[in-house]
Amino acid sequence: MKYISTRGQAPALSFEDVVLTGLAPDGGLYVPETLPHFSQEEIASWSALSYEELAFKIMAPFVDGAVPDAELKTIIAESYSKFRHQAIAPLVQTGHNEWVLELFQGPTLAFKDFALQFLGHLLDHLLEKRNQKVVVMGATSGDTGSAAIEGCRNCDNIDTFILHPHNRVSDVQRRQMTTVIADNVHNIALEGNFDDCQNMVKASFGDQSFLPEGRQLVAVNSINWARIMAQIVYYFYAGLALGSPARPVSFSVPTGNFGDIFAGYLAKRMGLPIDQLVIGTNSNDILHRCLSDNDHSKHQLVHTLSPSMDIMVSSNFERMLFDLYDRDGDAIRNLMEDFKSGSMNLDESALSKARELFSSYKLDDDETLATINELFETCEYLVDPHTAIGIRAARATRRRQDIPMICLATAHPAKFPEAVRKAGQETDPQLPHHMNDLFEREERFEVLPQDLSAVQSFMQQRIRS
Ligand SMILES: *Cc1c(COP(=O)(O)O)cnc(C)c1O
Repeated sequence: MKYISTRGQAPALSFEDVVLTGLAPDGGLYVPETLPHFSQEEIASWSALSYEELAFKIMAPFVDGAVPDAELKTIIAESYSKFRHQAIAPLVQTGHNEWVLELFQGPTLAFKDFALQFLGHLLDHLLEKRNQKVVVMGATSGDTGSAAIEGCRNCDNIDTFILHPHNRVSDVQRRQMTTVIADNVHNIALEGNFDDCQNMVKASFGDQSFLPEGRQLVAVNSINWARIMAQIVYYFYAGLALGSPARPVSFSVPTGNFGDIFAGYLAKRMGLPIDQLVIGTNSNDILHRCLSDNDHSKHQLVHTLSPSMDIMVSSNFERMLFDLYDRDGDAIRNLMEDFKSGSMNLDESALSKARELFSSYKLDDDETLATINELFETCEYLVDPHTAIGIRAARATRRRQDIPMICLATAHPAKFPEAVRKAGQETDPQLPHHMNDLFEREERFEVLPQDLSAVQSFMQQRIRS
């Protein structure tokens, strides 16, 4: 299978190359040229499969032989071996025909483990085969960094550098990154905000001449196609558990960069009967404004209790736009050119298609806290602030009570104890057993000024030969 750029002017890549790259050279994002489609009979035949077996069925057509089947199965098995629950993605009922899909059972307690455990093992396999070494560089506002470090720490062919804004991530989030002491893992606390971190990463991807001969940067944010691909699986897994394909299901997703919900849209295109796809946003509501008022404009960033969704622009939305504009790369290039000024408008047909596919709802912090309390009072179930946003959005926009509504729980509440406390809950959510000593572990990170040459020379000194 070939992968093409959303802006239509970059060469098509194989699966292997698309995993080992970042943005396309024309500035677009890579998407598969065609999507696999599964018949209802075929999906029905998967109802007894384990999470790992299902993951193989869904990902194999995208991998398309780049990794031999037996090895792909091993990579999948290893990727989900560190999850704390046998079901990998268990469902919990929270209301009438309303379910929470717990995607926080992985090593770093956020759904990003689903994709980054897999990406780490996949990279390890591909690099070994190609006898190649790469450098992973990424910026994080919290959850991506720890999941990427956890995913790549055991890969001898990868040196990992993660930038986080100094003093602006939570203690749990920072410690999950900085207590991984390994000579191929490096945490940089940048004196700046998340955007400054991201600008360092973008500039470094744009000009990689600071790297040693033969090295290249690999992206671990959700512009990496392998991450989206791995996330399609849990939509099918949850649907099958609740009676699909005979019965349709709906999903609600707390959304930031549009990676997670885009995987849900792909599951629908691939044959899973999905009725509603609900986008929940916090006060950084560009997607909600776009769908409700055709207002896709950059606003000032707001810091909320759901920091992993604090974004001004959802980068993966470009992949969605590509489909909404019938895969016309020229149209997307023009649209993105408009957006450089800070805003753009969708045309009539694209907007009406988007409205047919998605519902959306926006919450401020007060409504998020109220939802945490509501869940605890009605079913003694403690949710993190991101998950609360998805649940409230589902309840506010739900069309049919007879169709199961599945709300994605993207983080464990113990990752965000401040929000839980602020909601007025008496007891702090407990970290899982394996992390009991997180606050006693040794930390290692380097504070660096907001200066590209300082960051790059730090990296040069630490990349292993
Ligand atoms: C990353 C993240 C999100 C947002 O996911 P996107 O794919 O960026 O839309 C939501 N919740 C949590 C806890 C996250 O870490």
